[in-house]
Amino acid sequence: MLGIVSKAVSLLFILAGTLIVVTYGGSTDPLVSVIGMFAGMLLWSIGLALMGASKSGQVKPPPPTITEIRCEDPSCDFKEIRDFQEGDYIMMPVDANCPKCQGSLSIYGIYISAEDESDKVSKI
Ligand SMILES: [Zn+2]
Repeated sequence: MLGIVSKAVSLLFILAGTLIVVTYGGSTDPLVSVIGMFAGMLLWSIGLALMGASKSGQVKPPPPTITEIRCEDPSCDFKEIRDFQEGDYIMMPVDANCPKCQGSLSIYGIYISAEDESDKVSKI
């Protein structure tokens, strides 16, 4: 939403700059022409700068969240990682049985994968 607004504002600056150049740039008075051109260029550069800023400040997609499922049997070491699904919470029982010991499974942890270091995860 913010990106759209800043894009609209930057387009407005570029549009206004064009309008000023068109209106005053072709003036027979050289002073008006120069000032018009200069003002137009200034608005253009502001608009382009804003556009660049909005581009770099684009909202990144949320980092991937993963859910770690573990077997509830302490003697069993089964664990599984899957994509986080809405409604997942820690200690939530999973509607599936352990493929190793047929014991019940539950969610052990929910993690956000760091974007740059995919091997490092931080626990919520
Ligand atoms: Zn198990």
